[in-house]
Amino acid sequence: MIEVLFLGVSAAIPMSGQTNSSFLIRTQTACILIDCGPAIMQQLSAVGISPAEITHIFFTHRHGDHCLGFPMLMLWWAISAPKDTPNPVVIAGELTFVSLEQIVAAIFGGDTQKLQGNLTRITLPDHAPSVIQLTHEIILRTQPLNHAEFAPDLGARFETSGVSLVFTGDTSPSDNIIILARDADLLVHDASYCATLNPEFANGIYGHSTAQISARNAAAADVRKLALVHIDAMYEGQQLTLLDEAKREFGGDVCIPIAGTLFTF
Ligand SMILES: [Zn+2]
Repeated sequence: MIEVLFLGVSAAIPMSGQTNSSFLIRTQTACILIDCGPAIMQQLSAVGISPAEITHIFFTHRHGDHCLGFPMLMLWWAISAPKDTPNPVVIAGELTFVSLEQIVAAIFGGDTQKLQGNLTRITLPDHAPSVIQLTHEIILRTQPLNHAEFAPDLGARFETSGVSLVFTGDTSPSDNIIILARDADLLVHDASYCATLNPEFANGIYGHSTAQISARNAAAADVRKLALVHIDAMYEGQQLTLLDEAKREFGGDVCIPIAGTLFTF
């Protein structure tokens, strides 16, 4: 069985009581954390998962809501991990690794080496597709999407046991989303904005997508299930409008998950 657990679903400035977008994939032999915002320790605690379970951390990009929890998660390995707990494999684009190393060095100074010394790093190209055999049972495919020049975003597709799970991270419209998501079982898509409530955002804005764009991509890629995440806090209480917007474009299963939502495949 493969599980996808939503640790948080909000945008950079979360809705009240919520936390930044972060997800876990769990298989028989791996536990992959996708993005690591500032509330990561609380997010893991809330669902009863120890950092010790995490085998891999994948970063979509280097904006703070996706990576500022990394130093504190590494601190757990440095001072709280049971003896012989293996460090996670860290996977990110080139520029994201620059920021990860800078933020750890900036706040832990001389202890940086202790925190990161044994990490296995997999550095992916920021602006080209890649395919890697992540474990004996998991293939990771990435595609450069369309977010910010400072923070290029890598969309990720994890394939295991005949199941394909796709995460866009932050992105405005990009043909690469459809390439990445083709026939996927799950597409977790940036739906920061609502074209119904803000028609001026219909083509995407600030490097983000609307629920309508997400659903059109889901339909074009023929995915089975679409999850709308990273919804801007200004839509608090209006999430059903985004859901209806998506349902008008995509006939498959579409939802707006909350923290703690669990899908099994
Ligand atoms: Zn971002």
